[in-house]
Amino acid sequence: MPYIQFLGAAGTVTGSKHLVNTTNDSSGKQGFQLLIDCGLFQGQKEWRERNWQDTPVPARELEAVVLTHAHLDHCGWIPRLVKGGFRGTIYATQATIDLCSVVLPDSGHLQEEDAAFYNKKGASKHKPALPLYTLEEAQDCLKYFKPVEVEKTIQLCPELSFRFVRAAHILGSCMAEITLKTNGQARRLLFTGDIGRVRDSQIAPGKVVHSGPQEGESADVLVMESTYGNREHPHTDPRPELAQLVSDTVKRGGSVVVPAFAVERTQKFLFILKALMEAGEIPRVPVYCDSPMAIKAVEIYLQHSEEYTPRAAELIKNYGSPTGWPGFTFALTAEQSKKINDSQFPSIIISSSGMATGGRILHHLAQRLPDPRNLVLFIGFQAPGTRGASIKEGAHEVKIFGEFIPIRAQVAALEQFSDHADPPEMLQWLHTFTSQPGMTYLVHGEPQAASQLRDLMKKELGWNVEIAEYMERVDVR
Ligand SMILES: [Zn+2]
Repeated sequence: MPYIQFLGAAGTVTGSKHLVNTTNDSSGKQGFQLLIDCGLFQGQKEWRERNWQDTPVPARELEAVVLTHAHLDHCGWIPRLVKGGFRGTIYATQATIDLCSVVLPDSGHLQEEDAAFYNKKGASKHKPALPLYTLEEAQDCLKYFKPVEVEKTIQLCPELSFRFVRAAHILGSCMAEITLKTNGQARRLLFTGDIGRVRDSQIAPGKVVHSGPQEGESADVLVMESTYGNREHPHTDPRPELAQLVSDTVKRGGSVVVPAFAVERTQKFLFILKALMEAGEIPRVPVYCDSPMAIKAVEIYLQHSEEYTPRAAELIKNYGSPTGWPGFTFALTAEQSKKINDSQFPSIIISSSGMATGGRILHHLAQRLPDPRNLVLFIGFQAPGTRGASIKEGAHEVKIFGEFIPIRAQVAALEQFSDHADPPEMLQWLHTFTSQPGMTYLVHGEPQAASQLRDLMKKELGWNVEIAEYMERVDVR
C-alpha cells in the first residue's frame, strides 16, 4: 500500500516535508520515493533540533523532490538533503529556482555565521558548533534543480506523475497535483503548499503576484496548509492605518523598523510605500531596504513580470525598478548596513529575517528598540518561540546577540499583508472542488489553527478531515 509520511510542518508551520512512497517499504529499497517540499524547521528549539535528524528513508534512496515554492520553510532543508546523499531531481518552476538560487546560499551563509557566533561566544552545547550546511553546499545543490512549466505533466516513474498549478502565494508558487497509479487504480493527491489570498485584491493590496488558486480541483487525498486556520484577516484596507503609523512616528522624530521576509513581503511593502509616498500620504523619508537577498529578489521579480498584478505592473511602468527609486536605498554591503545605524533622522528600515530569528534586522532592533520614538512594525506571521513573536506579544525585553535589550519603542502589527488565505478564503476555494476528497490532512499550522479549521471544514463541507501528526504515516487507499 502506498503511503504519505509527514516529516515536517505537522503540528507546526515550518519544516514542510512530505514523503510519498509508492510501496510500504520504509527502507526505500523498493518503489519510488518522492518528497513534496523540503523545508527547514524554524522557531522553537524543539523543532529546530529536528533539522539535524535524517529522513526515515535515507536521502540517497529518495528519487525526487517536488518543490512548491521558495520560502525557506519549504526549501531550506534541500542542501542538507543533498549533503545526506540525495542525488535525484528537484522539480520547481523557473521563478522558484531563480529565487532558490539566492535564498538557499543566503541561508547557508546565515548558518555559517550563527555557528561562528556561537563558537566565539562559547554559547553552544556542541563544540565546535557546526553549520547545518554552508553557503558553498547550498550553491552546490542548485545543480539538481530542474525547471517545470506550470500545468505541464511530468512522469516521474510508471506509477507517479505530477503537474504544478498556481497557488497565488508568492512568485513562482504552485500546488502539486500528484497522480499515483498502483494495482490498476489511479489516485489523485493534491498538496497545496501555501495557499495565497483568494478574495478581492482590494483587501490584500500591494500583492505582486496574482494568479490562482485554480478552481474546480478534485483530489482523493488533499494535504492542505492551515497557517491561518483560526484567524480571519482584517477586511479593511491597511493603507490608511500604515500611513498614520508612519506619519506619527516621523512626527515624533522616530524611525520605522519593519522585519520582513526578503521574498515577496519586502517587495510588496516597497510597492505600497512607493504608492503612498507618490500620493502624498506619507512623508518622503529615506527608505532603507537592508537585505542583499531582497535586492536580488527584486531583480528576479523584474524578470517574471508575467505574474504581476495590474497594479504592480503599473507601478513598475510608471517608476521603473525599485532599485532606482529616489530616496530608496538598497544596502548590499555590511558597511552600508551599519551606516543605517548611524542615521539619526527619521527613516523606514525594512530588513530580514521576517521573524527576527537572524539576519541584519537584529542589529536594527538592538539599536532602535530602546527608544520610545521608534516604531517596530510587523507585517508578517510570527511563529511562536521566535523573537518576533515575543516582541509582538508585548515583551519588555528581548535577547539579541546574548544581551537583553529593553523594548520601549511602539510595537504595531498589520495583518492584512499576509500571503496566506484565511478560513473564509480557503472555504471559498474548497467550495469550487468538483468532488469531495476521500481524506483531507491538515498540515502547516499550529495545533489550534489546524483544529479550528478541521472543525470548520467538517461543519461547512462535511468532509473527512484529520490533522497530520509529525512522522505519521497514512496509507493512500
Ligand atoms: Zn510560503
